[in-house]
Amino acid sequence: MRYISTRGQAPALNFEDVLLAGLATDGGLYVPENLPRFTQEEIASWAGLPYHELAFRVMRPFVTGSIPDADFKKILEQTYGVFSHNAVAPLRQLNGNEWVLELFHGPTLAFKDFALQLLGRLLDYVLEKRGERVVIVGATSGDTGSAAIEGCKHCENVDIFILHPHNRVSEVQRRQMTTIFGENIHNIAIEGNFDDCQEMVKASFADQSFLKGTRLVAVNSINWARIMAQIVYYFHAALQLGGPARSVSFSVPTGNFGDIFAGYLARNMGLPINQLIVATNRNDILHRFMSGNQYVKETLHATLSPSMDIMVSSNFERLLFDLHGRNGAAIAGLMDTFKQGGGFSVEEERWTEARKLFDSLAVDDAQTCETIAEVFAQTGELLDPHTAIGVKAARECRRSLDIPMVILGTAHPVKFPDAVEKAGVGKALELPAHLSDLFERDERCTVLPNDLKAVQAFVSQHGNRGKPL
Ligand SMILES: *Cc1c(COP(=O)(O)O)cnc(C)c1O
Repeated sequence: MRYISTRGQAPALNFEDVLLAGLATDGGLYVPENLPRFTQEEIASWAGLPYHELAFRVMRPFVTGSIPDADFKKILEQTYGVFSHNAVAPLRQLNGNEWVLELFHGPTLAFKDFALQLLGRLLDYVLEKRGERVVIVGATSGDTGSAAIEGCKHCENVDIFILHPHNRVSEVQRRQMTTIFGENIHNIAIEGNFDDCQEMVKASFADQSFLKGTRLVAVNSINWARIMAQIVYYFHAALQLGGPARSVSFSVPTGNFGDIFAGYLARNMGLPINQLIVATNRNDILHRFMSGNQYVKETLHATLSPSMDIMVSSNFERLLFDLHGRNGAAIAGLMDTFKQGGGFSVEEERWTEARKLFDSLAVDDAQTCETIAEVFAQTGELLDPHTAIGVKAARECRRSLDIPMVILGTAHPVKFPDAVEKAGVGKALELPAHLSDLFERDERCTVLPNDLKAVQAFVSQHGNRGKPL
């Protein structure tokens, strides 16, 4: 499989190189040159397969030529073997024909484990084969950091540095990062905000001289392997609900358009999906595009669903690329306009094309809390605030009651106690067994000033299993 850039200028890469690449050299994002397509008979024949075996069938075409089947199978079995629920991604019914796909049974209790548990193993496999080591530097406001650290903690060939804003992430989220020890794991608390952290990561990609030749790898949601892993659970859910003979709809809480883009790809690979609902919080750039063809940056608002607090939606470029007939020059032009502070609209036919599949809703904090309370009263299920946004959007935007509606349950409610408390749901939140002693565990973390040079010096001092590069 070959991968091409959405801006049309960077060289095509194979899977192995795309895994190790961040942005393409032309500033674009990598996408498969030709998407695999499965027949209905083929998809139907996968009914009842264990999750890792389904994952093998869905993802195999993407890694062909880079990873032999037997090795890939073994990696997938290990990856999804660490999930605490036997079904890996169980469906729970909320209402007639309405379901939550629980994607929070991984080690860090959010859906990011599906991709990052795999990414860590794939990186280590490929690096071992090449005899190389890499450094990961990532910024997190919460979920990504812990999932990336959990995914890489056993990697022999990766040192991971995760920057979070000092005193500005929740205690559960901080502890999920700082209580994991390993000579290749480095938590850095920056005396600044999340944007400061993210700027440092960007600057480090732009000038990598501080790494003395060691390669820097991205683990944010622009990494193709993360999107790829997320395609699988759309197939998994549909097969449980009568697909592919019957079509299914999905409502997806999203900020960076990563998770929902995976659903769009599943559909293009042959899975009958009737409707995809983009569910955002008050940071609603995606909703403004879907509802009014305006893609314009606005100020950032802190919400009760912090994992979707974004101003710009990085993976949206991948959809724009398809909407523009895969014309890289057109995308480079649009992104230039955007960067210069302007927003943009796309031509009417392109927008109408997107609207055939996508609907959207922006949900504010008050509505999020109302939905948590409502669903708890109706079913006894406690939703996390991101999932609640998905449920609200599903109920408002649904086109057909006959078609099963699946809401992606992106996190366990225990990760977001503020929202649950504000919703007034009188249920004590309990950590799952594997995290029950989280608040007693020792923590390891280095506090650094909001200074790029200090951070880069720290990385080069510790980037080789805790030793200097
Ligand atoms: C990361 C995250 C999201 C948003 O994911 P996208 O990649 O922006 O689609 C939603 N919910 C939770 C709990 C998350 O951690």
